[in-house]
Amino acid sequence: MSDGAVIIWFRSDLRVEDNPALSAAIETGKPVIPLYVLEPETCGRRGLGGASKWWLDKSLKSLSSSIERMGGQLILRAGEPKDIIENIISATGADAIFWNRRYGEAERNIDSELKEKLSEQGLSVRSFNGCLLTEPWTIKTGSGSHFRVFTPYWKNVRANYELPEAYPAPTEMIFHKVESDALVDWGLHPTKPDWSVEFDASWTPGEQGAENRLTDFLERAVSAYAVDRNRPDLEGGTSGLSPHLAFGEIAPTQIWRATQSRIASGEIDEDSAMVFLSEIGWREFSYVLLYHYPDLADENYNKNFSAMPWRESNEDYKAWCEGQTGYPIVDAGMRQLWQTGWMHNRVRMIVASFLTKHLLIKWQKGEDWFWDTLVDADPASNAASWQWTAGTGADAAPYFRVFNPITQGQKFDATGDYVRKWCPELAKLPNKFLFSPWEADPVTLASASVTLGETYPHPIVEHKIGRERALAAYEEVKAAKSS
Ligand code: FAD
Repeated sequence: MSDGAVIIWFRSDLRVEDNPALSAAIETGKPVIPLYVLEPETCGRRGLGGASKWWLDKSLKSLSSSIERMGGQLILRAGEPKDIIENIISATGADAIFWNRRYGEAERNIDSELKEKLSEQGLSVRSFNGCLLTEPWTIKTGSGSHFRVFTPYWKNVRANYELPEAYPAPTEMIFHKVESDALVDWGLHPTKPDWSVEFDASWTPGEQGAENRLTDFLERAVSAYAVDRNRPDLEGGTSGLSPHLAFGEIAPTQIWRATQSRIASGEIDEDSAMVFLSEIGWREFSYVLLYHYPDLADENYNKNFSAMPWRESNEDYKAWCEGQTGYPIVDAGMRQLWQTGWMHNRVRMIVASFLTKHLLIKWQKGEDWFWDTLVDADPASNAASWQWTAGTGADAAPYFRVFNPITQGQKFDATGDYVRKWCPELAKLPNKFLFSPWEADPVTLASASVTLGETYPHPIVEHKIGRERALAAYEEVKAAKSS
């Protein structure tokens, strides 16, 4: 056994299976210090949203249990990582620190400064890819720049990707004890209000929960995914893996391996499974954008949009956040988000289009709300998807494509089950009026116990007016571009 001890610093990789940094730390044969640092919102770092804190609380409990089973203990500390790590090094004589890389600019700066400083002091500092299939700087166009369009990017990844060997979960570790905070003292659970009361029914944070979800999805749903993924009314039409991926409880490599192995054995439909893997590709592509465009959550990727005459309206924004816009498919989505910390992808696109186009409110306000309320809030996917929907991003949906919240509902929630579940006050309306209750005659409304303006709001903007206002605003962007 070598001298010293090795710190494994967990960040967005809260798992023991297939964790390259953890496996390498244990392989050194040194006593291991498994560490998680709750970092402050300084130096450009964005604090976790409320729903993510709820998830983190549970995920850390799960990781702690896994590490205890190996004979160790997860050390929890809150503060600047630099101070905490230096303090642990001087208290323990640790001479190595390993971590899996992260890709936001603030985090990269923290990590590279620390790496430089500790390396100068003679420590062994090693970093690994534990969270992506391919890191953002590895896939390049023929001219050597990064891809800005998804389809050729993903084609390139698929053609060249070589799956690394899996790192099986270590079964034991020699543990070096260090003082730890108590998780309960971090107060990660929301209070005022405790919006998480119904989260438990939807989620099992932690590595086991992730594995169960993947297995269940591959066995039950992946073969129909190509069609069902657009149906919010179906429970489990998509994998629900996003929060597990966001916290690194499962790696995309594990998803890739499990999916490909079932394709190879003929257990699942290849075409549909490849559509599923291409969604993992969108996550990867979002990280490419974040890496090459660190302000992705704040600044329009497409600079022409600085001429966009966004509206300020706290009243409309509040109605959107609370699911009180008067458009049932939008309200259903926003209420699903509030109650479960998650929203179906199709509905995310509809509500984001509604905010940025019908209400003409800047996408950053929506991105912020999602950041706070999504259990899967992800610095790359959230920002990239908001920019994509708003039309301001790389490879974006064109701004002039304004989703019609009535026909989108009729098409993708054809049974009406989704709206009826999240807007129960409309449950008795016939499908014909479910997505546009204001079009129903008084007798139909009365027999469904709906009183517009009382039991359910009037639309906060008329669809036609909202659409025309958005298109007129876009003319200003076009004019600025050509001037
Ligand atoms: P599945 O359909 O099962 O897909 C599998 C995985 O692929 C997902 O878990 C996710 O990691 C990835 N994925 C799927 N679609 C996308 C996509 N369009 N972009 C990037 N990755 C994708 N996803 C997040 O993980 N975090 C976010 O903060 C986030 N914010 C979004 C905001 C908006 C406005 C929109 C339109 C989309 C956002 N997405 C975000 C993408 C997508 O909605 C979710 O990843 C998906 O709904 C998660 O459900 P799932 O795990 O069942 O997905």
